[in-house]
Amino acid sequence: MTVTVRFAPSPTGKLHIGNGRPAVLNWLYAKSQGGTFILRLDDTDRERSTEEYADGILEDLAWLGLTHDALHRQSERFERYDAAAQRLKQAGRLYPCYETPDELDRKRKRQLARGLPPVYDRAALDLTDEEREKLEAEGRRPHWRFKLEPETVEWDDLILGSVRVDCKSLSDPVLIREDGTYLYTLPSVVDDMEMNVTDVIRGDDHTTNTGAQIQIFNALEARLPRFGHHSMLIGPDGKPLSKRMLGDYTLEAIRAMGVEPMAVNCMLALLGTAEAAEPLLSLDELAKGFDIAKLGRGQIRFEAQEIERLNAGLLHKTPYEAVKTRLAERGMDSPEFWEAVRPNLTLFDGAAEWWHVIEGPVEPVIEPEDADFVAEALAALPGEPWDGSTWKSWTDTLKSSTGRKGKALFMPLRLALTGLRHGPELANLLPLIGPERAKARLSGKT
Ligand code: GLU
Repeated sequence: MTVTVRFAPSPTGKLHIGNGRPAVLNWLYAKSQGGTFILRLDDTDRERSTEEYADGILEDLAWLGLTHDALHRQSERFERYDAAAQRLKQAGRLYPCYETPDELDRKRKRQLARGLPPVYDRAALDLTDEEREKLEAEGRRPHWRFKLEPETVEWDDLILGSVRVDCKSLSDPVLIREDGTYLYTLPSVVDDMEMNVTDVIRGDDHTTNTGAQIQIFNALEARLPRFGHHSMLIGPDGKPLSKRMLGDYTLEAIRAMGVEPMAVNCMLALLGTAEAAEPLLSLDELAKGFDIAKLGRGQIRFEAQEIERLNAGLLHKTPYEAVKTRLAERGMDSPEFWEAVRPNLTLFDGAAEWWHVIEGPVEPVIEPEDADFVAEALAALPGEPWDGSTWKSWTDTLKSSTGRKGKALFMPLRLALTGLRHGPELANLLPLIGPERAKARLSGKT
Protein backbone atom coordinates (compact mmCIF):
# COMPACT_ATOMS: atom_id res chain seq x y z
CA MET A 1 0.00 0.00 0.00
CA THR A 2 1.36 3.41 -0.95
CA VAL A 3 2.47 5.40 2.04
CA THR A 4 0.08 8.32 2.55
CA VAL A 5 0.62 10.95 5.18
CA ARG A 6 -1.03 14.21 5.98
CA PHE A 7 -0.01 17.48 7.53
CA ALA A 8 -3.06 18.88 9.26
CA PRO A 9 -2.56 22.40 10.57
CA SER A 10 -5.43 24.43 11.93
CA PRO A 11 -5.51 27.79 10.15
CA THR A 12 -5.99 29.58 13.44
CA GLY A 13 -2.49 30.99 13.54
CA LYS A 14 0.85 31.08 11.80
CA LEU A 15 3.25 28.22 11.29
CA HIS A 16 6.38 28.43 13.37
CA ILE A 17 9.35 26.16 14.00
CA GLY A 18 7.27 24.09 16.42
CA ASN A 19 4.04 23.44 14.53
CA GLY A 20 5.80 23.57 11.16
CA ARG A 21 8.04 20.67 12.08
CA PRO A 22 5.50 17.89 11.38
CA ALA A 23 5.14 19.32 7.86
CA VAL A 24 8.79 18.63 7.14
CA LEU A 25 8.79 15.25 8.89
CA ASN A 26 5.67 14.06 7.08
CA TRP A 27 6.87 15.28 3.70
CA LEU A 28 10.25 13.59 4.03
CA TYR A 29 8.68 10.42 5.35
CA ALA A 30 6.38 10.25 2.32
CA LYS A 31 8.97 11.22 -0.27
CA SER A 32 11.63 8.88 1.06
CA GLN A 33 9.18 6.06 0.35
CA GLY A 34 7.65 7.29 -2.89
CA GLY A 35 4.48 8.14 -0.97
CA THR A 36 1.79 10.79 -1.02
CA PHE A 37 1.65 13.96 1.06
CA ILE A 38 -1.77 15.41 1.81
CA LEU A 39 -2.23 18.91 3.12
CA ARG A 40 -5.35 19.07 5.21
CA LEU A 41 -6.59 22.27 6.73
CA ASP A 42 -8.22 21.41 10.05
CA ASP A 43 -10.63 24.32 9.88
CA THR A 44 -13.68 23.00 11.72
CA ASP A 45 -13.33 25.88 14.15
CA ARG A 46 -15.09 28.46 11.97
CA GLU A 47 -14.65 31.24 14.50
CA ARG A 48 -10.89 31.04 14.80
CA SER A 49 -9.94 29.77 11.32
CA THR A 50 -9.23 32.47 8.76
CA GLU A 51 -8.47 32.55 5.05
CA GLU A 52 -5.50 34.72 5.82
CA TYR A 53 -3.91 32.07 8.02
CA ALA A 54 -4.74 29.38 5.45
CA ASP A 55 -3.01 31.44 2.73
CA GLY A 56 -0.05 31.98 5.03
CA ILE A 57 0.31 28.23 5.58
CA LEU A 58 0.21 27.57 1.83
CA GLU A 59 2.81 30.25 1.29
CA ASP A 60 5.10 28.90 3.98
CA LEU A 61 4.94 25.36 2.62
CA ALA A 62 5.55 26.56 -0.92
CA TRP A 63 8.58 28.50 0.31
CA LEU A 64 9.97 25.39 1.99
CA GLY A 65 9.31 23.41 -1.19
CA LEU A 66 6.95 21.01 0.57
CA THR A 67 4.60 20.38 -2.33
CA HIS A 68 1.33 18.62 -1.62
CA ASP A 69 -0.33 15.93 -3.70
CA ALA A 70 -3.81 16.82 -2.45
CA LEU A 71 -5.42 19.63 -0.49
CA HIS A 72 -8.50 19.16 1.68
CA ARG A 73 -10.44 21.41 3.97
CA GLN A 74 -12.41 19.95 6.81
CA SER A 75 -14.96 22.73 6.51
CA GLU A 76 -16.05 21.17 3.22
CA ARG A 77 -16.58 17.74 4.69
CA PHE A 78 -19.14 18.21 7.44
CA GLU A 79 -21.58 15.70 5.96
CA ARG A 80 -18.89 13.01 6.24
CA TYR A 81 -18.50 13.76 9.93
CA ASP A 82 -22.27 13.80 10.41
CA ALA A 83 -22.47 10.35 8.83
CA ALA A 84 -19.75 8.99 11.10
CA ALA A 85 -21.37 10.59 14.16
CA GLN A 86 -24.63 8.93 13.18
CA ARG A 87 -22.93 5.53 13.00
CA LEU A 88 -21.39 6.03 16.41
CA LYS A 89 -24.74 7.05 17.87
CA GLN A 90 -26.37 3.97 16.44
CA ALA A 91 -23.64 1.81 17.92
CA GLY A 92 -24.26 3.42 21.31
CA ARG A 93 -20.79 4.96 21.38
CA LEU A 94 -21.79 8.62 21.13
CA TYR A 95 -24.07 9.91 23.87
CA PRO A 96 -25.62 13.27 24.70
CA CYS A 97 -24.53 15.14 27.80
CA TYR A 98 -26.10 18.27 29.27
CA GLU A 99 -23.71 19.48 31.96
CA THR A 100 -22.70 23.10 31.71
CA PRO A 101 -18.99 23.98 31.94
CA ASP A 102 -19.67 25.19 35.49
CA GLU A 103 -21.26 21.94 36.53
CA LEU A 104 -18.38 19.99 35.06
CA ASP A 105 -15.95 22.19 36.86
CA ARG A 106 -17.66 21.59 40.17
CA LYS A 107 -17.65 17.84 39.57
CA ARG A 108 -13.94 17.93 38.88
CA LYS A 109 -13.24 19.89 42.03
CA ARG A 110 -15.26 17.48 44.14
CA GLN A 111 -13.38 14.52 42.67
CA LEU A 112 -10.03 16.14 43.27
CA ALA A 113 -11.01 17.03 46.83
CA ARG A 114 -11.73 13.36 47.44
CA GLY A 115 -8.40 12.37 45.93
CA LEU A 116 -10.07 10.91 42.82
CA PRO A 117 -8.87 11.45 39.25
CA PRO A 118 -11.00 14.13 37.54
CA VAL A 119 -12.55 11.77 35.01
CA TYR A 120 -16.05 12.43 33.66
CA ASP A 121 -18.48 10.27 35.69
CA ARG A 122 -20.79 9.41 32.77
CA ALA A 123 -23.80 10.67 34.70
CA ALA A 124 -25.44 11.53 31.37
CA LEU A 125 -25.63 7.84 30.49
CA ASP A 126 -28.09 7.37 33.34
CA LEU A 127 -30.52 10.04 32.17
CA THR A 128 -33.96 8.78 31.27
CA ASP A 129 -35.75 9.98 28.15
CA GLU A 130 -38.00 12.17 30.29
CA GLU A 131 -35.05 13.76 32.03
CA ARG A 132 -33.43 14.52 28.70
CA GLU A 133 -36.63 16.00 27.34
CA LYS A 134 -36.95 18.15 30.42
CA LEU A 135 -33.41 19.45 30.02
CA GLU A 136 -34.03 20.22 26.37
CA ALA A 137 -37.29 21.95 27.27
CA GLU A 138 -35.25 24.14 29.61
CA GLY A 139 -33.29 25.19 26.56
CA ARG A 140 -30.22 23.02 27.12
CA ARG A 141 -28.53 21.59 24.05
CA PRO A 142 -26.43 18.46 24.35
CA HIS A 143 -22.76 18.06 23.69
CA TRP A 144 -21.80 14.56 22.62
CA ARG A 145 -19.21 12.30 24.18
CA PHE A 146 -17.58 9.20 22.78
CA LYS A 147 -17.93 6.25 25.12
CA LEU A 148 -14.49 4.80 25.66
CA GLU A 149 -14.02 1.10 26.31
CA PRO A 150 -12.32 0.61 29.66
CA GLU A 151 -9.24 -0.88 28.07
CA THR A 152 -5.59 -0.18 27.55
CA VAL A 153 -4.87 0.78 23.96
CA GLU A 154 -1.44 -0.16 22.71
CA TRP A 155 0.41 0.54 19.51
CA ASP A 156 3.88 0.27 18.08
CA ASP A 157 4.85 3.88 17.53
CA LEU A 158 7.18 4.73 14.65
CA ILE A 159 9.20 6.94 16.99
CA LEU A 160 8.32 6.04 20.56
CA GLY A 161 8.21 2.26 20.18
CA SER A 162 5.57 0.52 22.25
CA VAL A 163 3.02 2.99 23.71
CA ARG A 164 0.13 2.18 26.03
CA VAL A 165 -2.73 4.49 26.91
CA ASP A 166 -5.00 3.42 29.73
CA CYS A 167 -8.41 4.65 28.60
CA LYS A 168 -9.92 3.97 32.03
CA SER A 169 -8.10 7.04 33.26
CA LEU A 170 -9.49 9.28 30.50
CA SER A 171 -12.74 11.20 30.34
CA ASP A 172 -14.96 10.22 27.45
CA PRO A 173 -13.90 12.80 24.88
CA VAL A 174 -16.40 15.38 23.65
CA LEU A 175 -16.69 15.00 19.87
CA ILE A 176 -19.50 17.47 19.19
CA ARG A 177 -20.06 20.74 20.96
CA GLU A 178 -23.37 22.10 22.15
CA ASP A 179 -23.66 24.25 19.03
CA GLY A 180 -23.27 21.19 16.82
CA THR A 181 -19.68 21.95 15.76
CA TYR A 182 -17.01 19.29 15.80
CA LEU A 183 -13.93 19.23 17.91
CA TYR A 184 -10.76 17.97 16.28
CA THR A 185 -10.99 14.33 17.40
CA LEU A 186 -13.67 12.83 15.14
CA PRO A 187 -13.06 14.73 11.85
CA SER A 188 -9.42 13.79 12.08
CA VAL A 189 -10.24 10.09 12.32
CA VAL A 190 -12.86 10.24 9.57
CA ASP A 191 -10.44 12.00 7.23
CA ASP A 192 -7.56 9.68 8.01
CA MET A 193 -9.87 6.77 7.23
CA GLU A 194 -11.40 8.14 4.07
CA MET A 195 -8.18 9.58 2.70
CA ASN A 196 -6.42 6.25 3.23
CA VAL A 197 -3.80 7.77 5.46
CA THR A 198 -1.33 5.01 6.29
CA ASP A 199 0.85 6.94 8.73
CA VAL A 200 -0.14 9.63 11.19
CA ILE A 201 2.94 11.59 12.22
CA ARG A 202 2.39 14.38 14.71
CA GLY A 203 3.59 15.89 17.96
CA ASP A 204 3.63 13.86 21.15
CA ASP A 205 1.14 16.32 22.62
CA HIS A 206 -1.34 14.10 20.75
CA THR A 207 -0.28 10.77 22.26
CA THR A 208 -3.28 10.56 24.59
CA ASN A 209 -5.64 11.59 21.79
CA THR A 210 -4.30 8.68 19.82
CA GLY A 211 -5.48 6.28 22.50
CA ALA A 212 -9.05 7.60 22.15
CA GLN A 213 -8.82 7.93 18.37
CA ILE A 214 -7.75 4.30 17.98
CA GLN A 215 -10.96 3.36 19.73
CA ILE A 216 -12.91 5.55 17.29
CA PHE A 217 -11.20 3.94 14.30
CA ASN A 218 -12.19 0.58 15.73
CA ALA A 219 -15.76 1.68 16.42
CA LEU A 220 -16.01 2.79 12.79
CA GLU A 221 -14.47 -0.51 11.69
CA ALA A 222 -11.62 1.21 9.93
CA ARG A 223 -8.11 -0.01 9.25
CA LEU A 224 -5.69 1.54 11.72
CA PRO A 225 -2.90 3.73 10.41
CA ARG A 226 0.57 3.55 11.93
CA PHE A 227 1.31 6.33 14.38
CA GLY A 228 4.47 8.28 15.04
CA HIS A 229 4.70 10.94 17.75
CA HIS A 230 7.66 13.28 17.64
CA SER A 231 8.80 15.13 20.71
CA MET A 232 8.23 18.82 21.21
CA LEU A 233 10.71 21.66 21.15
CA ILE A 234 11.81 23.29 24.34
CA GLY A 235 13.64 26.57 24.77
CA PRO A 236 17.25 27.04 25.88
CA ASP A 237 15.91 27.30 29.46
CA GLY A 238 14.50 23.77 29.28
CA LYS A 239 10.88 24.99 29.32
CA PRO A 240 8.38 24.61 26.48
CA LEU A 241 8.96 27.33 23.93
CA SER A 242 6.97 30.36 24.94
CA LYS A 243 4.41 31.98 22.65
CA ARG A 244 6.67 35.00 22.45
CA MET A 245 9.69 32.99 21.36
CA LEU A 246 7.62 31.06 18.82
CA GLY A 247 6.28 34.39 17.60
CA ASP A 248 9.83 35.37 16.75
CA TYR A 249 10.26 32.13 14.88
CA THR A 250 7.24 31.98 12.65
CA LEU A 251 8.22 30.69 9.22
CA GLU A 252 7.13 34.05 7.87
CA ALA A 253 9.55 35.89 10.19
CA ILE A 254 12.38 33.47 9.38
CA ARG A 255 11.73 34.01 5.68
CA ALA A 256 11.76 37.77 6.18
CA MET A 257 15.15 37.45 7.89
CA GLY A 258 16.45 36.13 4.59
CA VAL A 259 17.09 32.57 5.77
CA GLU A 260 17.33 29.88 3.08
CA PRO A 261 14.38 27.47 3.12
CA MET A 262 16.71 24.47 3.03
CA ALA A 263 18.36 25.63 6.25
CA VAL A 264 14.94 25.46 7.90
CA ASN A 265 14.17 22.07 6.36
CA CYS A 266 17.48 20.63 7.52
CA MET A 267 17.06 22.00 10.99
CA LEU A 268 13.52 20.72 11.40
CA ALA A 269 14.37 17.31 9.95
CA LEU A 270 17.42 16.66 12.04
CA LEU A 271 16.56 18.30 15.35
CA GLY A 272 16.23 15.53 17.83
CA THR A 273 18.31 13.01 15.95
CA ALA A 274 21.72 12.08 17.23
CA GLU A 275 23.22 13.52 14.05
CA ALA A 276 24.51 17.04 13.99
CA ALA A 277 22.35 18.78 11.44
CA GLU A 278 24.35 19.02 8.24
CA PRO A 279 23.18 21.51 5.69
CA LEU A 280 21.99 19.79 2.54
CA LEU A 281 21.16 21.58 -0.66
CA SER A 282 17.95 19.86 -1.65
CA LEU A 283 14.92 18.17 -0.21
CA ASP A 284 15.66 15.13 -2.36
CA GLU A 285 19.03 14.78 -0.73
CA LEU A 286 17.48 15.23 2.70
CA ALA A 287 14.79 12.67 1.92
CA LYS A 288 17.41 10.13 0.88
CA GLY A 289 18.97 9.94 4.32
CA PHE A 290 15.70 10.38 6.20
CA ASP A 291 14.71 7.73 8.70
CA ILE A 292 11.94 8.59 11.14
CA ALA A 293 13.17 5.97 13.59
CA LYS A 294 16.26 8.09 14.14
CA LEU A 295 14.20 10.74 15.90
CA GLY A 296 14.74 10.51 19.62
CA ARG A 297 12.07 10.43 22.31
CA GLY A 298 13.46 13.19 24.48
CA GLN A 299 12.44 16.83 24.32
CA ILE A 300 14.43 18.85 21.88
CA ARG A 301 16.25 21.99 22.82
CA PHE A 302 15.90 24.70 20.24
CA GLU A 303 18.83 27.06 19.92
CA ALA A 304 18.20 29.97 17.61
CA GLN A 305 21.87 30.10 16.53
CA GLU A 306 21.35 26.70 14.96
CA ILE A 307 19.43 28.33 12.10
CA GLU A 308 22.31 30.71 11.48
CA ARG A 309 24.88 27.95 11.61
CA LEU A 310 22.96 25.86 9.10
CA ASN A 311 22.24 28.79 6.86
CA ALA A 312 25.91 29.75 6.74
CA GLY A 313 26.95 26.14 6.09
CA LEU A 314 24.40 25.91 3.31
CA LEU A 315 25.57 29.09 1.58
CA HIS A 316 29.19 28.00 1.86
CA LYS A 317 28.45 24.97 -0.27
CA THR A 318 25.91 26.50 -2.65
CA PRO A 319 27.25 26.46 -6.22
CA TYR A 320 27.02 29.57 -8.38
CA GLU A 321 24.46 28.00 -10.72
CA ALA A 322 22.01 27.66 -7.85
CA VAL A 323 22.09 31.39 -7.06
CA LYS A 324 22.78 32.84 -10.50
CA THR A 325 19.28 34.28 -10.86
CA ARG A 326 19.21 35.77 -7.39
CA LEU A 327 22.61 37.35 -7.94
CA ALA A 328 21.52 38.72 -11.31
CA GLU A 329 18.37 40.23 -9.79
CA ARG A 330 20.62 42.18 -7.46
CA GLY A 331 23.05 43.18 -10.19
CA MET A 332 25.79 40.92 -8.79
CA ASP A 333 25.91 38.20 -11.42
CA SER A 334 29.50 36.99 -11.40
CA PRO A 335 30.71 33.44 -10.72
CA GLU A 336 34.06 34.72 -9.42
CA PHE A 337 32.31 37.04 -7.02
CA TRP A 338 30.16 34.22 -5.65
CA GLU A 339 33.19 31.95 -5.21
CA ALA A 340 35.00 34.74 -3.40
CA VAL A 341 32.28 35.72 -0.95
CA ARG A 342 30.24 32.61 -0.21
CA PRO A 343 32.58 31.34 2.55
CA ASN A 344 31.93 34.60 4.40
CA LEU A 345 28.16 34.64 4.26
CA THR A 346 25.69 33.89 7.00
CA LEU A 347 22.75 35.27 5.06
CA PHE A 348 22.53 35.56 1.29
CA ASP A 349 21.82 39.27 1.55
CA GLY A 350 25.24 39.74 3.13
CA ALA A 351 26.69 39.32 -0.38
CA ALA A 352 25.62 42.89 -1.18
CA GLU A 353 27.98 44.19 1.47
CA TRP A 354 30.95 42.48 -0.22
CA TRP A 355 29.78 43.63 -3.61
CA HIS A 356 29.96 47.14 -2.25
CA VAL A 357 33.45 46.52 -0.83
CA ILE A 358 34.59 45.48 -4.31
CA GLU A 359 32.82 48.19 -6.27
CA GLY A 360 33.45 50.94 -3.75
CA PRO A 361 33.52 53.59 -2.73
CA VAL A 362 35.38 52.34 0.34
CA GLU A 363 37.34 54.40 2.79
CA PRO A 364 40.85 52.89 2.71
CA VAL A 365 42.50 52.59 6.11
CA ILE A 366 46.26 53.18 6.13
CA GLU A 367 47.81 53.33 9.60
CA PRO A 368 50.68 55.86 9.80
CA GLU A 369 53.15 53.14 10.75
CA ASP A 370 52.19 51.18 7.61
CA ALA A 371 52.28 54.10 5.19
CA ASP A 372 55.72 53.27 3.75
CA PHE A 373 54.88 49.62 3.42
CA VAL A 374 51.60 50.37 1.62
CA ALA A 375 53.43 52.75 -0.73
CA GLU A 376 55.92 50.01 -1.51
CA ALA A 377 53.07 47.57 -2.07
CA LEU A 378 51.48 50.01 -4.52
CA ALA A 379 54.69 50.20 -6.49
CA ALA A 380 55.04 46.42 -6.50
CA LEU A 381 51.54 45.69 -7.87
CA PRO A 382 51.91 43.06 -10.62
CA GLY A 383 51.08 43.91 -14.21
CA GLU A 384 47.83 42.89 -15.84
CA PRO A 385 45.99 40.65 -16.47
CA TRP A 386 45.12 39.75 -12.88
CA ASP A 387 43.90 36.35 -11.84
CA GLY A 388 43.76 34.04 -8.84
CA SER A 389 47.57 33.89 -8.61
CA THR A 390 48.14 37.67 -8.57
CA TRP A 391 47.79 38.01 -4.80
CA LYS A 392 50.40 35.32 -4.15
CA SER A 393 53.00 36.66 -6.51
CA TRP A 394 52.45 40.22 -5.18
CA THR A 395 52.74 39.23 -1.50
CA ASP A 396 55.70 36.89 -2.19
CA THR A 397 57.54 39.83 -3.68
CA LEU A 398 56.62 42.03 -0.71
CA LYS A 399 57.63 39.35 1.75
CA SER A 400 61.15 39.18 0.41
CA SER A 401 61.55 42.93 -0.17
CA THR A 402 60.22 44.03 3.27
CA GLY A 403 60.78 41.00 5.48
CA ARG A 404 57.17 41.31 6.69
CA LYS A 405 55.11 38.20 7.07
CA GLY A 406 51.79 36.96 8.47
CA LYS A 407 49.44 39.58 9.81
CA ALA A 408 52.02 42.38 9.51
CA LEU A 409 52.10 41.68 5.80
CA PHE A 410 48.41 41.03 5.08
CA MET A 411 46.51 43.31 7.42
CA PRO A 412 47.77 46.66 6.11
CA LEU A 413 46.90 45.48 2.59
CA ARG A 414 43.45 44.32 3.64
CA LEU A 415 42.77 47.58 5.48
CA ALA A 416 43.89 49.67 2.52
CA LEU A 417 42.04 47.60 -0.09
CA THR A 418 38.78 47.06 1.76
CA GLY A 419 38.72 49.42 4.73
CA LEU A 420 37.92 46.40 6.93
CA ARG A 421 39.84 44.04 9.20
CA HIS A 422 38.07 40.92 8.04
CA GLY A 423 36.52 39.58 4.88
CA PRO A 424 36.84 37.10 2.06
CA GLU A 425 40.23 35.76 0.98
CA LEU A 426 42.19 38.58 -0.57
CA ALA A 427 43.50 36.25 -3.26
CA ASN A 428 39.90 36.06 -4.52
CA LEU A 429 38.98 39.67 -3.86
CA LEU A 430 42.01 41.29 -5.48
CA PRO A 431 41.21 40.38 -9.10
CA LEU A 432 37.62 41.51 -8.51
CA ILE A 433 38.73 44.85 -7.09
CA GLY A 434 40.98 45.16 -10.15
CA PRO A 435 44.09 47.30 -10.81
CA GLU A 436 42.40 50.66 -11.07
CA ARG A 437 40.56 50.57 -7.76
CA ALA A 438 43.45 48.77 -6.04
CA LYS A 439 45.87 51.52 -7.07
CA ALA A 440 43.52 54.23 -5.86
CA ARG A 441 42.90 52.57 -2.50
CA LEU A 442 46.59 51.86 -1.89
CA SER A 443 47.08 55.58 -2.50
CA GLY A 444 44.50 56.33 0.18
CA LYS A 445 41.79 57.44 -2.25
CA THR A 446 38.21 56.20 -2.08
N1 GLU B 1 -4.92 20.15 13.66
C1 GLU B 1 -4.20 19.32 14.57
C2 GLU B 1 -3.06 20.10 15.17
O1 GLU B 1 -2.62 21.06 14.54
C3 GLU B 1 -3.66 18.12 13.82
C4 GLU B 1 -3.04 17.09 14.65
C5 GLU B 1 -2.87 15.84 13.82
O2 GLU B 1 -1.91 15.82 13.05
O3 GLU B 1 -3.69 14.95 13.91
O4 GLU B 1 -2.64 19.83 16.27
